[in-house]
Amino acid sequence: MNIIFVAPPAAGKGTQSALLVEKYGVAHISTGDLLRAEVNKGSELGKSLQEKMSTGELIADDIVIDLLKNRLMENDIKKGFILDGFPRNLNQAHMLDEMLEELNMKIDHVLYLDMDKELAMHRALGRMTCPNCGKGYNKYEEIMKPKVDGKCDDCQIDLESRSDDNEETFNTRFDTYLDNTQPLLDYYKEIELLNVIDNSGTPEDTFKKIEEVII
Ligand code: AMP
Repeated sequence: MNIIFVAPPAAGKGTQSALLVEKYGVAHISTGDLLRAEVNKGSELGKSLQEKMSTGELIADDIVIDLLKNRLMENDIKKGFILDGFPRNLNQAHMLDEMLEELNMKIDHVLYLDMDKELAMHRALGRMTCPNCGKGYNKYEEIMKPKVDGKCDDCQIDLESRSDDNEETFNTRFDTYLDNTQPLLDYYKEIELLNVIDNSGTPEDTFKKIEEVII
């Protein structure tokens, strides 16, 4: 089962992906994570990526595609994969089609997590992650709050916020997303892969709606 998530930043793709990974054994592939890993390596490429990413700008398509291709050749994707944060524009969608054909793979579902900017901003400004286990929290949402303020429930260490989850960068990321996403949605609708999922409820509500589509 190979899935693409299309959603505004901070829509909860990470949370939904974790639920799918746990229940269905698929691999979660986030191009944002692949790029951040490159930044953490401190390579020349990493340094140039960091500048762009800190302002919320998109990275060049061919850099992202290369990282993704390497990732799809690893052998933990036998039960399928979720693409999170990719494709971000129509060109990337076409590049993905070509690459999957080469690798003899295909996409089964495109899931669009639909929500408005105000709600997405609210979630972005509240989200926090455990640097040790990767679990996600949200200080503004009752059911996603950590038990102790700012600490991971499982690891008891300090939670971190992403540096690009601030109001200004979020605005750029959301507007870039809107500009690029509509053609992408039109494309996946045309080839009958698109499913629109209402994402205004709790993470559990959204997960139920996703399962109705994929099972
Ligand atoms: P994300 O974790 O998906 O919110 O991505 C964080 C940042 O990584 C984005 O603001 C972009 O700068 C970059 N990025 C992630 N995925 C892509 C992509 N598919 N194409 C271009 N840039 C990307």
